[in-house]
Amino acid sequence: MNTYGIDLGTTYSCVAAVDDTGRAHITKNAAGEDTTPSVVFFESPTNVVVGEEAKNTALLLPDQVVSLVKRQMGEQARFEFHGQEHSPETVSALLLRELARAAGEHERAEVEEVVVTVPAYFGVTEREATRRAGEIAGLRVLDVVPEPVAAALHYQSLDSGRGPRHLLVYDLGGGTFDTTVIRVEDNDVRVVCTDGDHRLGGADWDEKLTDHLLERFSAQYPETDPGGDEQFLQDVSAAAERLKRSLTVRESARHNLRFAGSAVQVELGRKDFEALTSDLLERTLSITERTVATARERGVDTFDDVLLVGGMTRVPAITEALRERFGFEPHLHEPDLAVAKGAALFALVRQVKNVMDGAQEDPGAVRERAEQVGRRLGLTTAEVERMADKTVTGVSPRAFGVKTIDSADPVYENDPLSARQYVSHLLSANTPLPAVAQEGFATVWAEQEAVQIDVWEQAGSVVSEELEHNAQIGDALLSGLPPSPANTPFRVEFRLSETGLLNVRAWEPEHGSQVRFDIRIGGMSRQSLERARDAVGMIHTSG
Ligand code: ADP
Ligand code: MG
Repeated sequence: MNTYGIDLGTTYSCVAAVDDTGRAHITKNAAGEDTTPSVVFFESPTNVVVGEEAKNTALLLPDQVVSLVKRQMGEQARFEFHGQEHSPETVSALLLRELARAAGEHERAEVEEVVVTVPAYFGVTEREATRRAGEIAGLRVLDVVPEPVAAALHYQSLDSGRGPRHLLVYDLGGGTFDTTVIRVEDNDVRVVCTDGDHRLGGADWDEKLTDHLLERFSAQYPETDPGGDEQFLQDVSAAAERLKRSLTVRESARHNLRFAGSAVQVELGRKDFEALTSDLLERTLSITERTVATARERGVDTFDDVLLVGGMTRVPAITEALRERFGFEPHLHEPDLAVAKGAALFALVRQVKNVMDGAQEDPGAVRERAEQVGRRLGLTTAEVERMADKTVTGVSPRAFGVKTIDSADPVYENDPLSARQYVSHLLSANTPLPAVAQEGFATVWAEQEAVQIDVWEQAGSVVSEELEHNAQIGDALLSGLPPSPANTPFRVEFRLSETGLLNVRAWEPEHGSQVRFDIRIGGMSRQSLERARDAVGMIHTSG
């Protein structure tokens, strides 16, 4: 049995495997690197290139290359290449397939079962889309696990300390930002709260630098306009990322811009870079502040460790700001690798649990099973039993609710359909999983036969009942209501599973009409999933 964890990043991805001592290590990609750019180049109808080569091709053939696809996970985005239609899921599936292929080659053992990580702030829709991407890639996705939880699991595997600890994970990657407070103790890993912005990451720092470089060029050559030249823009944007990385280790760095025979040498100091991007850093700090405040409300007011995860946390200004603003002493915690390693460890836990399941009732059988699993994985029986006991408790990253007509609105009386509509949240953000919540509502009209139940999820970081701060993620019909007067009560119940799958139930208590349905978010049927898998299966990938 081989055990793999995949950190499917917005800009860089990474795969780890667990060896026979139960420790996680990184599997190198086809190019011999630890991390792989999450970039997909559609070379021909049957051939796709993933990684560094794809990233370099973006400069020449931007129309055939997809990057930052994770930002569109769970959205209805469509891409077309060589007459084939693709979605964020199928593009991610190609990425995952190549990552798994390369890892299998490196380990000389095919990758079948994996845990894939998602930002803590991913909602139900995006988690489901990620799981689907894995399935389309032909992998068995044991679970999707939040990145900071994976980082904490890795931290815990290296930490010999005893007793409960509270960790604050500050994860700034290429495209997303999360802060999460996690409590770890022995075999219990528990998310206290999480917050973030999934449209804030290193790419935004790069963009600021790109704009600055372009301005410097235009200042010197106001008559030339390179702004419309896609190739030049791509060049400058790649240069911006390199400059940013240089400024992590140097006080100043240089880049030569060349366009249509004109050249400008730009020299940039670290301080200039910090000034250009200070508003972005500030955004991460205010989210951190919010997280610290939420953690305090939940009784956590000191942190035993502050872990920095994500490539961007190498930027010195980040540690400085966290130290200055919060008095933290942050640790760079294998920022590019910790998440994949933690995911691999979690995959092992999941596998052990799966194999142990079914032997639950009989203690003798449990022990025997543990011995078997231990032999197969090269672990001691005690280690296997410890893993099978491990519990990881996440939180719902967002609030969920039902769209409701406001009966307190004065126009409701005469024209209910014109009255204000809002989202009544049944589950608030940061509720520990699994979670259940119920709420009572009432019909609008007399003789109303059915109620349309629209399920909405908080869309941004602001919790508010206004529709514009939420997004519809599913719906169902409560039908067969017996003839009743207006304002007849009915109830709605939400259940959110450990992994963030939502189940909704609604019923009318008096007569017992009820609908029950699983919201398979993003609504992809088994059939279309299989079709997608077949289509992706026809494409050859290489790195
Ligand atoms: P993700 O998981 O979102 O794909 P990563 O955690 O791999 O992202 O981080 C990628 C980001 O980190 C990119 O924006 C990259 O430019 C940045 N990065 C990586 N190394 C450095 C460095 N040494 N200095 C500054 N930024 C870096
Ligand atoms: Mg990451």
